[in-house]
Amino acid sequence: MFDGLTGRLGDIFDRLRRRGALTEEDVGAALREVRVALLEADVALPVVKSFINGVKEKAVGQEVLRSITPGQMVIKIVHDHLVEMLGEQNEGINLNAEAPVPVLMLGLQGSGKTTSTAKIARLLKTREKKKVLMASLDTRRPAAQEQLRVLGEQVDVATLPIVPGEDPVTIAQRAMRVGRLEGYDVVMLDTAGRLAIDEELMDEVVRIRDVTKPVESLLVVDAMTGQDAVTVATNFNDKVGVTGIVMTRIDGDARGGAALSMRQITGRPIKLLGTGEKIDALEAFHPDRIAGRILGMGDVLSLVEKAAETIDREEAEKLAAKMEKGNFDLDDMLSQLRQIRKMGGMGGMLSMLPGVGKIKDQLSKANIDERMLKRQEAIITSMTQKERRDIKILNASRRRRIALGSGTTVADVNRLLKQYQDMADMMRKFKKLGKKGLMRQGLSALM
Ligand code: GDP
Repeated sequence: MFDGLTGRLGDIFDRLRRRGALTEEDVGAALREVRVALLEADVALPVVKSFINGVKEKAVGQEVLRSITPGQMVIKIVHDHLVEMLGEQNEGINLNAEAPVPVLMLGLQGSGKTTSTAKIARLLKTREKKKVLMASLDTRRPAAQEQLRVLGEQVDVATLPIVPGEDPVTIAQRAMRVGRLEGYDVVMLDTAGRLAIDEELMDEVVRIRDVTKPVESLLVVDAMTGQDAVTVATNFNDKVGVTGIVMTRIDGDARGGAALSMRQITGRPIKLLGTGEKIDALEAFHPDRIAGRILGMGDVLSLVEKAAETIDREEAEKLAAKMEKGNFDLDDMLSQLRQIRKMGGMGGMLSMLPGVGKIKDQLSKANIDERMLKRQEAIITSMTQKERRDIKILNASRRRRIALGSGTTVADVNRLLKQYQDMADMMRKFKKLGKKGLMRQGLSALM
C-alpha cells in the first residue's frame, strides 16, 4: 500500500544522506518535498501540516551524533514522528469485560466487514483460545446471514442460527442471550452495511448499540477509498462511537494516505489490517513497523540507534588504546566529560532512543548534572598542558590559581583530582589484567 510514498521519500532522503553537513535550508527543502510526497499519497492536508511543523521543530537546533550524518538524523526524526502520528503502539482488541463480551462490527457495504468479522473470530479463537459466537444482523441483503454462516464453518466458529423475518435488534438480543446461556467469551455482531451513510443505517446501529452495550465497536474501512475512509470513520465515530478501525485491502494499490490520516483526524486507532481475501490475511497494526515500512530505511534507523548507544566509537577506541597503555590523562577525562555533557544536552530526542535513556538514568542517579559537568570542564581547561599530563606538579598555589581561573574553589579542584586519580587507578588495573583479562572480566560481568 505504501509503495509510492516509500519510493518518493527514499529519493528525498537519499539526497539528504549524501550530504556531510546540513543547513537549515537543506532540511527545509527536504521537508517541502516530504510535504508533496505525503499529499500525493493522499494524506489529509491538516495532518500533513502538523506533521511537517512537528518535524521542523524537532530538527532545527538538533545536535547531531558524531558518527552519523545530519541527513540520517533527520530521517530518524521523521520516523519517530511518523510513529507518533500513527499512534505510538499497537492497540489490541479490548476484551476486558464480563463474558460474553459484545463486539460490534460496523462499516459500509463492501468494505470487507463480514470477512473481517470471521477473520477476527478466527484470531480470537486460535490465538486467545476464546469461545466465539458470530451473528449477522444484516436482514437486508438476502445472502448476508448465509455468508457469515459459511465463513463460520470455514473457520470453525459458531454462528447464531438464522430465524427468518427477525429484525436486527431482536437478533442482537438473541445473540447476547445465547452467548450468556451457552458460555461464550465473545459475541461478534456483524451489522448491516449500506452503500453510503444514511440516517436509517445510523439509527439502526445506535439501537443495536444501546441494547448490546458493546465493549468494542470496530469500524471496517476500505483503504482503497482513500480520504473517503477517513470521512466515513469521522461520521461513524460522531454518530455511533467507534473504538477502533480495521483497515482492509491494504494489499491493493491504495496510496496509504487514509492509514496515515486516520488517527489524527478521528482520534481512533487502527487496530487491524486486512491484507488479502484469504481468511488468515489479517495483521495487527504496529505503528513502528508501518513507519519503518513507509520509510524503508531500517539501515539508517538502526545506525542512528547504534550511534546513540555507543555514543562515539572513535572516542571510545582512542580511550581504549590509552587505557591499554595506561596513560589516561586529564585531557582524556576532559573529552569524556564533554561527551557526557553533549548527550545530556541533547534532551528529548535522545531519550527516545533505546539505550541512551538508560545511560541518562544512570547519570541522573549518579547526580551528574549539567552544571557540575561544566564546572569540571572549566577546572581542567584552566590547567596548563603540562599540568594536565602530570598532576604531581599541582602544588597548593597552582591549585589556588586553577580554582580562581575556573570560578570554583580549591575543594572543587581537589575533588576533581581525586576523581581523576580513581579513574586512572582503575585504568592501571585494567592494564595489568591485559587484553585477555579484560575480556574475562567483561564476560563475567555478563554472566
Ligand atoms: P461487507 O459487505 O463489508 O461485509 O464485505 P465482504 O466481507 O463481503 O467483502 C467484500 C469483498 O472484499 C470480498 O470479496 C472479500 O473477499 C474482499 N476482501 C475483504 N477484505 C479484504 C482484504 O483485506 N483484501 C482484499 N484483497 N480483499 C478483501
